Amino acid sequence: MNAEIIAVGSEMLTPWRQDTDSLHVTERLNQLGVTVRFKTIVGDRPKDLVDAVRSALRRADVIVTVGGLGPTEDDLTREAVAEALKVGIKRNPELIAHMYTRAAQRRATMSRNNEKQADIIEGAEILENMNGSAPGQMLDTAYAGHRKLVLLLPGPPSELKPMFDEQCMSRLRETLPKRHIATRVLKAALIAESVCDARIAPIYKQLSDIETTILAHLGDIQINLMCSKPALDLAQARVDSLASRIEEELDDLVYSSQGETLEQIVLYYLEMKGATLSVAESCTGGIVSERLTSISGSSRSFVGGAIVYSNELKSEFAGVPPSVLERYGAVSKETAQALAEGIRERCDTTLGVGVTGIAGPSGGTAEKPVGLVYIGVSDSKTTDVVERRFSGDRIRIRAYAAQTALDLVRRKLM
Ligand code: ATP
Ligand code: MG
Repeated sequence: MNAEIIAVGSEMLTPWRQDTDSLHVTERLNQLGVTVRFKTIVGDRPKDLVDAVRSALRRADVIVTVGGLGPTEDDLTREAVAEALKVGIKRNPELIAHMYTRAAQRRATMSRNNEKQADIIEGAEILENMNGSAPGQMLDTAYAGHRKLVLLLPGPPSELKPMFDEQCMSRLRETLPKRHIATRVLKAALIAESVCDARIAPIYKQLSDIETTILAHLGDIQINLMCSKPALDLAQARVDSLASRIEEELDDLVYSSQGETLEQIVLYYLEMKGATLSVAESCTGGIVSERLTSISGSSRSFVGGAIVYSNELKSEFAGVPPSVLERYGAVSKETAQALAEGIRERCDTTLGVGVTGIAGPSGGTAEKPVGLVYIGVSDSKTTDVVERRFSGDRIRIRAYAAQTALDLVRRKLM
């Protein structure tokens, strides 16, 4: 079963408002085994709206419109759906009476144009709106000989969500063929999206019943697997077996097989080993610490550390000998090593991390260009230091540096 969601409202075609309703609807439809194939955002122009509904009727089994059910002139969804389906609209007197009663209860006067909200498309079932005035509508109908379910829902999220959860879900469950969706999320660190896809596409392309999507963001790759079957264990077995094959291919690049974040995994490993961690951050300015401390319970293994931006503090807080800074410079293998070892000693932790680099855009030289980063990870026996040359702007370089630091800790603990 395929669905299309149509978000109605010119405001969502401006830079100031976004359609978020469709995210909730998508999540719920997926739970019912329905895949969202298209989303359309359309302004409040009657002809465009009819066009959008028509193309949705041509290509989807379930069509959900959100917004445009209010009382104002530009609320035209009812009319557009009726026109696209070539059916009529009737004003429902009971609904009007109900609206007047509700207004009276709230000591409000109801303006005449509100009556428009009682316009019901022929054959539609009324979905009561417990949190607003515009009722929703649901049609079980046919278009060009194919069965179509059409839902008209109000735009405000506070009205849409309860209406969908409390009224649409049960109706859809009864109406739709039974499908179940299983999902898996794998995550990999510090591999280019194109490289990752080149390696795993030959595997997932063989399994056409599983939808695989790859999302990449600042050194973090998320591989989403989704499969829909008549029974959940069937769907789950399919995604699990594909997940294993992808993990086999990417090997230790995969840090999470259930969607956890890298910082969650690092903390998980630390705890499992009874280890503690401290960090001395220069160019990342606290990003590594921020990511770790954003996880509740992180204090069990992450003790803290220092942001050591100036040379003075590198020496004072992380014990970097001034001679090292003088001889090799603040951005050097030697300084990263001294930072990791120094912070580890001062904080008395199992592991210490030091990050130093040139985030740019200024401050680079021919010898030490923008993007050059050194990261040290130290334990009681050894200190490993890596040199990386990241490209991009300041945000990207800092994010990659933090991601690399966390990944090195993970590898040290593995
Ligand atoms: P109302 O009776 O309030 O007029 P409506 O069904 O006509 O409801 P709209 O007028 O289209 O809905 O939108 C009302 C408000 O709902 C918008 O100002 C916006 O804040 C919110 N809204 C509408 N559509 C969406 C959407 N797709 N995602 C998130 N919010 C939305
Ligand atoms: Mg409105």
